[in-house]
Amino acid sequence: MVEHVIVIGAGVYGAAVTAALTRRGAHVTVVDAGAPAGGTSGATFSWTNSCGKRPRAYHDLNVAGMAAHRKLAADVPHGDWYHEGGNLEWAADDAGRVELRKKVAGVLDYGYEAQWLSRVEALRLEPDMDPAELPEDEIAYFPREGWIEPSRLIGHLLSSAVADGAELVANDAVTGLEVTAGTVRAVRLTSRRRLAADAVVNCAGPQAAVIAELAGLVLPMRNTRGVLVSSSPAAISVSRVIHAPHVHLRPDGGGRLLLHTHEIDGAAQVSGTGEISVDPSAVDKVIEAGRALYPGLRASTVEGVRVGERPIPGDGLPVLGRVLALPNFHFAVSHSGATLSVHAGDLVAGEALGENHDEALAAFRFERPALAAR
Ligand SMILES: Cc1cc2nc3c(=O)[nH]c(=O)nc-3n(C[C@H](O)[C@H](O)[C@H](O)COP(=O)(O)OP(=O)(O)OC[C@H]3O[C@@H](n4cnc5c(N)ncnc54)[C@H](O)[C@@H]3O)c2cc1C
Repeated sequence: MVEHVIVIGAGVYGAAVTAALTRRGAHVTVVDAGAPAGGTSGATFSWTNSCGKRPRAYHDLNVAGMAAHRKLAADVPHGDWYHEGGNLEWAADDAGRVELRKKVAGVLDYGYEAQWLSRVEALRLEPDMDPAELPEDEIAYFPREGWIEPSRLIGHLLSSAVADGAELVANDAVTGLEVTAGTVRAVRLTSRRRLAADAVVNCAGPQAAVIAELAGLVLPMRNTRGVLVSSSPAAISVSRVIHAPHVHLRPDGGGRLLLHTHEIDGAAQVSGTGEISVDPSAVDKVIEAGRALYPGLRASTVEGVRVGERPIPGDGLPVLGRVLALPNFHFAVSHSGATLSVHAGDLVAGEALGENHDEALAAFRFERPALAAR
């Protein structure tokens, strides 16, 4: 019987899995090499969406992820880390418009909510945008999308789990797994602590392949870095996620905005000693694009720059649930984890304790041929 579960990693996935296991009565120890939310979950755009996600099983998982956030936030008093403000997106050129039309048609076909707005209608939602930056029409609006504040979500999930008996071990990395006869028996930490385990869940995000290797498994990953810029507080009205051609932005608490564009992701450099720096001209570029769209942002400065590493399994899809060759070792690893983790973490936790989630997890198994093929 599974009694003691070790969860490796305290990002959105580790926190969600820990909370879901504890809710089911398991004794859980969650271990992180650093502080909770100190990994990718502390440096993410965290837009909750299933906008153009394929195949269908992945789309459905993301939609279920959005629903799980909605429910959790409604169930928890002050669960206001979740913001379902919607998302506006438009394109700058003909090729972009063709792509956007294809995306909107695709999600509508899946039964997902999407509308086309005119400039006038979009400005009713976001009146502080410069009208000159918007096309006259063909502005896509996805009303059920939004964003989360991951650190606050992780704080809630971990503190409620700890209140129910879970143990949180921070600043102590997993350095080894004891595996005998196709079973993980224990986890070893930098501190030399040894934690006996009935089951282990790998929620190590971008480091998931390293943990898999400790278990003798090869997890192909193709992680990428992303650069996020936080503005100082600005007295402007921004209520939703905006995907403009050269900048993506959303509120970031206390009047700040979080800005991103894929155009500057390559500006993050890693030195030989592992230090990460970002070319300042790339930061200027994204903040200027934000200021062009929201002129009120001209009064604000850059308050912070964060670089996050997207944990992307080799074929792009999540890796979730048990491993056939090592049945008490489980994965909860994906990109889009801000959207997916509460729902997917619940499925993984249930499976670790013997529930059958084969149907929901079939497309995301570690053994799928497409994962190994990359
Ligand atoms: C720029 C950017 C934008 C993004 N935008 C979105 C978005 O809009 N919407 C969305 O849904 N998703 C988005 N994502 C993806 C999403 O943020 C991630 O999928 C999610 O945060 C991953 O969470 P995690 O818990 O798996 O990983 P992490 O948050 O990285 O947590 C893993 C934890 O494991 C710990 N760890 C690692 N190795 C060990 C070890 N040996 N021992 C113990 N602990 C260990 C780390 O310290 C870390 O705390 C984005 C990511 C980036 C980088």
